[in-house]
Amino acid sequence: MAERATPLRFLKGAGPARAELLEKLDLRTFGDLLEHYPRAYLDRTRLVPLGSLQPGPEVTAAGEVRSVAVRRARGGRQDLHAILDDGSGVVECVWFNQAYLANRIRRGVRLLLSGRVEYFRRLRFSSPEWEILEAETPTTEAPGIVPVYPLTAGLSQRALRQWTRQALDACQAELIEFLPEEILLRERLPDWLEAHRGIHFPGTREQLNAARQRIAFQELFDLQVLLALSRNQYERPRTARPLAPAGRMLDALRGALPFALTSAQQRAIEEIRRDLARDCPMHRLLEGDVGSGKTLVALAAALLAIEAGAQVAFMAPTEILAAQHARTVERLLAPLGVRAAFLSGGLPARRAAETREAARSGATQILIGTHALIQETVAFATLGLVIVDEQHRFGVMQRAQLLGKGESPHGLIMTATPIPRTLALTLFGDLDRTVLDEMPPGRRPPRTHLVSVTRYADLLAYVGRSLAEGAQAYFVCPMIEASEAVDLAAAVVLFHRLEGEAALRGRRGALLHGRMKSDEKDAVMRAFMAGETAYLVATTVIEVGVDVPNASLMVIEHPERYGLSQLHQLRGRVGRGRQPAHLFLVRRPGAGEEARRRLEVLVRETNGFRIAEEDLRLRGPGEFFGVRQSGLPPLKVADPIAQPELLEAARREARELIATQGATLRGTRLWRRLETRFGERLRLYGVG
Ligand code: ADP
Ligand code: MG
Repeated sequence: MAERATPLRFLKGAGPARAELLEKLDLRTFGDLLEHYPRAYLDRTRLVPLGSLQPGPEVTAAGEVRSVAVRRARGGRQDLHAILDDGSGVVECVWFNQAYLANRIRRGVRLLLSGRVEYFRRLRFSSPEWEILEAETPTTEAPGIVPVYPLTAGLSQRALRQWTRQALDACQAELIEFLPEEILLRERLPDWLEAHRGIHFPGTREQLNAARQRIAFQELFDLQVLLALSRNQYERPRTARPLAPAGRMLDALRGALPFALTSAQQRAIEEIRRDLARDCPMHRLLEGDVGSGKTLVALAAALLAIEAGAQVAFMAPTEILAAQHARTVERLLAPLGVRAAFLSGGLPARRAAETREAARSGATQILIGTHALIQETVAFATLGLVIVDEQHRFGVMQRAQLLGKGESPHGLIMTATPIPRTLALTLFGDLDRTVLDEMPPGRRPPRTHLVSVTRYADLLAYVGRSLAEGAQAYFVCPMIEASEAVDLAAAVVLFHRLEGEAALRGRRGALLHGRMKSDEKDAVMRAFMAGETAYLVATTVIEVGVDVPNASLMVIEHPERYGLSQLHQLRGRVGRGRQPAHLFLVRRPGAGEEARRRLEVLVRETNGFRIAEEDLRLRGPGEFFGVRQSGLPPLKVADPIAQPELLEAARREARELIATQGATLRGTRLWRRLETRFGERLRLYGVG
């Protein structure tokens, strides 16, 4: 058996109990431990005397704790303050909201610290990494750079270091290099084993930097190989069916619209029209801020394909959004004679079977639906165009699966999560891009307000008055990662509370969440669109795409639990009609200063691209590239924003490798690595 696959209970000194704790960190095997990279380092090779500390980049220092105090800060937070002394000088240390450290960081204890020093009335370390130095080890002699790992209660740094060392020794023979030597030479990167030694147990700063560089390069390179392969896959069969109709149906749609297309929409449609007329399949990403009118561009593309005699598949990430698209198609395309159908997992079996049959026979010209569209049982007679809405909710793989249902159909991918250019290269390097950089005229972006929960009654009174005047509102409930059940509970509680509020008396509300049956959801949305209900209490099922122009108010509970881009998405649900729109972010004490700063970005910034950049800066690319969003393994070390040259290098090398050796990669060590990282996605792209 490969050592990498060894379960962690076989670590010396671990056993089943510790293995369970490790599992909380998502660590199950020796191999997992090797990829559990330190989040910081204590650099004992360069201890800075406390007397010569300066504000600036991260440093390591040591000293004895002279005094400790727990102080209450604003918002009820309890901070631990300590004064450290090493003979050359003293420094203050503060650990925010970590009063519990007081039972370990005590007077007389010697500490090793690492972190940034800032000037805050006097010099101080803010929440530094720390470790207690054993009394007998004089600080000046303690050698090396020591890794600091992400931990969970019950585990110590010391244990994790020992185990990682053990795993590294056991797996040495398996950390064989898998990249061609030329690449390592050209990019001046250490080999794979050296990189693992260097990231966990570096002897010097230089070794550490080189190791991190290699691992970051590898994360980006893997991704770029995947993208290069997927691009190959689209381009290989250069035999897409050209779709070049006269455009009568599109003209008819234009004539029927109550407004004129924006020039950005027209430009996008022209680009798509040119792509569709070629015999090489289109693969285009349509990016546009929330509310920029992407749906109409999609409908225009669909009409071109349909007029040319092809079928269209239109996939959306949630049932609510798919159903809304189906209604729009019904309203705008059915009058032009288009035969449309809707498919989702929630349909009764009989109806679903009939719908599939109509797609297979070619009777249906446009099939709109959720993930249900990629089921094996779904087939088309002449699928010519695939449209995927809110792409960030799907993985690369699902996109490829849908495309696989036709003879190299054209593909239009839409997203409202604007992605800074460098990142677009990382994630969507395989797509051409069109950006809708213009909003339909007359839009006024919603005004965003941070409202303290102590003023909730005033807020409700305002909402109540607006509803009485005919406005509609959303109340959005916290999203709690990985727990739909808790989400739902919170929404139900809020719904009942609002029903009892005098301010909303006489106004009808409805509850909307992901667990409802499809026809229930559909009924709730229809009633809201028709103005029969005045407000919706919703979980984040409404996050993407919902379009009800008369809804002009939104109240978000626990906004600190969302990413900025997600809040911007939510906000995009209002401000679509004529009346001025407002977004209220309800702040509770204890949510923290940092959360407040983050939310203030939203108050002053209305441009989705700039918000995405800010979000990325604040949360780091790891979060942004979370498995949930992209369906790809997260970047643990690489930071494509901070290291654009490394991204460029990885892209160049990956493309070169696929161009020259793509056909012979199967079965190599590099291939096996990619298989473990990307699984089925890789098989879909096969090389040949
Ligand atoms: P998104 O890009 O977020 O998907 P939608 O396609 O849902 O945006 O469009 C938002 C709203 O703008 C819809 O109500 C749509 O009818 C309207 N809309 C689209 N294009 C225009 C336009 N050119 N002029 C006025 N309103 C438009
Ligand atoms: Mg949309």
